[in-house]
Amino acid sequence: MSEVCPKCGLPKDLCVCETIAKEEQKIEIKTVKRKFGKLSTVVSGITDKNINVKDLMKKLKSKLACGGTIKEGNIELQGNHAQRVKKILTEFGFQSNAIKVKG
Ligand SMILES: [Zn+2]
Repeated sequence: MSEVCPKCGLPKDLCVCETIAKEEQKIEIKTVKRKFGKLSTVVSGITDKNINVKDLMKKLKSKLACGGTIKEGNIELQGNHAQRVKKILTEFGFQSNAIKVKG
């Protein structure tokens, strides 16, 4: 017996909600200065409940080989990775033109 997604009515393994959610998210990536002048890359705007932010952060951390946390719903990665984060997010199915990179 397979579970059915309450939103799109498809079995969970065929569910398209996350894919659709990713295409609709407007994401902002910015680099901020933290304690001791260290730079962090903050990814904000991922608000859709269909997207697993924790899982996304894990994947970003392993791709970039850096540390990271979730702060107030935003993904915060250690170091300046803005351009690479954008590229990786597009590989994950987010729309390139919906991702803004701010200095
Ligand atoms: Zn679904």
